[in-house]
Amino acid sequence: MTTDFYQHSMDVPLRGITIKSLREKRASFTEQLVASYLVMLNLGTDTIKETKQIKYIKICNFVTMTSFAASLMYTILSIVWANPLWFIAVNSLLITSVAVLYLNKIGHVNTSRLLYLLSVNSLLFIIALIVGPHTYAENFLLVAVLIPFLMYDLDHIKMILVGIILPLIYMMSYQFVEPYFAQYHLSIEHQNIMRLVGNPMEIGLAVTALFLYVFYSRQTELELESTNSQMTLHTTELKRSNADLEQFAYVISHDLKTPVRNISCFMRLLSNKHAENLDSEAKEFVEFAVSGAKRMERLIDDVLAYSRIGRNLSTPTPVNVNDVVNTIRYELECKSETSHATINITRELPIVNSVHSSLMYHIFQNLIKNGLKFNKTEHPEINISWNENTDFYTFAVNDNGIGISQKYSGQIFQMFKRLHTENEYDGTGIGLAICKKIVEHYNGHIWYESPGPDKGTTFLFTIRKF
Ligand code: ADP
Repeated sequence: MTTDFYQHSMDVPLRGITIKSLREKRASFTEQLVASYLVMLNLGTDTIKETKQIKYIKICNFVTMTSFAASLMYTILSIVWANPLWFIAVNSLLITSVAVLYLNKIGHVNTSRLLYLLSVNSLLFIIALIVGPHTYAENFLLVAVLIPFLMYDLDHIKMILVGIILPLIYMMSYQFVEPYFAQYHLSIEHQNIMRLVGNPMEIGLAVTALFLYVFYSRQTELELESTNSQMTLHTTELKRSNADLEQFAYVISHDLKTPVRNISCFMRLLSNKHAENLDSEAKEFVEFAVSGAKRMERLIDDVLAYSRIGRNLSTPTPVNVNDVVNTIRYELECKSETSHATINITRELPIVNSVHSSLMYHIFQNLIKNGLKFNKTEHPEINISWNENTDFYTFAVNDNGIGISQKYSGQIFQMFKRLHTENEYDGTGIGLAICKKIVEHYNGHIWYESPGPDKGTTFLFTIRKF
């Protein structure tokens, strides 16, 4: 038997080890015995999500195994001393112990502990009544008062109370009920033997359970520490790979800009300078190439804008959101295609502390432009409102456009996700992803509400107050 074997058995919750696998490995009898004990001790621990609960289940398994072993021993005595009622009672305890272990195995860890508290206490009481007062078997009920503290944390206070009150009631009623069982009592001689065996067992059981509690508490702490440090490592790694990805997108799009611009520039030169040499089909092909290059330029600009968010930002300052929205309104009014649209501010917008006016501009510009673009009415209308609580500002940009089905709520904030073709509405599918990235930069959240097709959409977003 190697130390490695025990080391391994103590370290891992024995998920991979089975008695069969040990047999196949030709493990010695002692190895198999220890492994079986450890497997039983860990029953159900792999079904628990909270690491700190694991020690309570291990202790439940330990206490149940002890009850099982004790009832096995008393079964033999009940046969030797020919006491059928005692035999039935200890066998009930035996079956209950198996049921508790099985319930733990299949993950019903709360039912198993409740079963233990209710039935094991009651059976201990019945056994103590049968065997007689000179055994002092009812003292096991005193040890049982400790058990709920070892099997539950303070979040399960009701269970702890049940586990204390029940054995205490049994203890108090023992002397009154015991005379009714006098005919089943063991002989005085046998009761004395039982006392000699039982008393050290009571003390041994209490001490071992307390030792296990301390041991597993320490083990749980160590496990939590190691999980925490692993999580910190993963978070750092994730941040690093995100930064790498953004850097990659930035460099690629930056370097692609010039060649794409050259393509559209030379295509234009070709169609202008050599117009007479090109037939109508060739001219059409040149137009396709120019519009493709333009779209690519827009995509590159948007990807660049996306990857620039959060980079090289100046110190956040207070930003008057009225000024931001008025600038956008002015810019749109200058464009002939949006001159007939109205942009209303329902109540003067706030001055938001610690943000960047360029980023606030991006969010409002994207949402307002979308409200006007995805709109078939003659008079597109945008209404901007807001409110606040102690932690957040919430802004709402409402339009009277085509609306969005709620089923796309998980998708439209993803990069390149579009619900319409390029022919229906132009765009790159990056605008809302940019809004989401900005809002998350300010620890906020973005979502939309839409009553139905052609009933408009309201985009809402929050910005955390610092
Ligand atoms: P783009 O506007 O370039 O297509 P966005 O990321 O801004 O990309 O929007 C993603 C998709 O969400 C759009 O293609 C459109 O289908 C839908 N959408 C966005 N805003 C609105 C709106 N106000 N009303 C209806 N649909 C919208």
